[in-house]
Amino acid sequence: MIKTSFFIFFLHEIHNFYCLMIHIILFGPPGCGKGTQAKIISNKFGFIHLSTGVIFRDHMKRKTNLGKLASCYINKGILVPDFITTNMLNTEIQKHFKARGIIYDGYPRTINQIYSLEEVLTKFCLGKINIIFYFFIQKNLIINRLLKRGRTSHRDDDTDIITVQRRIKEYDEETSMIWNNHKYKDNIIRLNASLSVDKISIFIEKNIINLLY
Ligand code: AMP
Repeated sequence: MIKTSFFIFFLHEIHNFYCLMIHIILFGPPGCGKGTQAKIISNKFGFIHLSTGVIFRDHMKRKTNLGKLASCYINKGILVPDFITTNMLNTEIQKHFKARGIIYDGYPRTINQIYSLEEVLTKFCLGKINIIFYFFIQKNLIINRLLKRGRTSHRDDDTDIITVQRRIKEYDEETSMIWNNHKYKDNIIRLNASLSVDKISIFIEKNIINLLY
């Protein structure tokens, strides 16, 4: 355990010396476990965890203008329009220029969002998208997971079956194809999201270590 942490620290130092910030995207349908993995991996590697869903919900809780606006979409289970989401995310990225890396959880979800991310990384010389972990899982498993999560998280968009189904439909119709461009084919790593949390995090960790090395 200590050995692994030291190894990761060592790789970091080498990477920091020679390279730019690392950008890792966790991509997949709602309920596939992106958030859980993003927390584990960001802690392990000292990366920033950016979840657009978490940021929106924080604004909703604080009743900011952005929160009020976003809630109109989130409560219906549909995507918040790109211009709102990209502006918010770009503002967040600018708070982390000194970070070793960023794990994106739930972003990008549209082609415009990919372009916007690439644009902001280029504009501020922050590196490029290094890896896209693509989570695959059967639909019935995620519906059960989301409804179960809703019982403890009290997230309205997790408790109502109609909203849950709408979010999955939105993913199937709007989001799932966004990486079809050939340009990304070497950056995508597919993973089986029905495996255990531990197995998935070890798999992700190994791939990040390969990247850093
Ligand atoms: P999540 O926590 O990732 O499941 O996101 C919850 C809700 O926030 C989604 O159903 C969308 O309404 C909204 N949302 C989160 N991320 C995005 C995004 N990248 N683009 C548009 N809407 C988003």
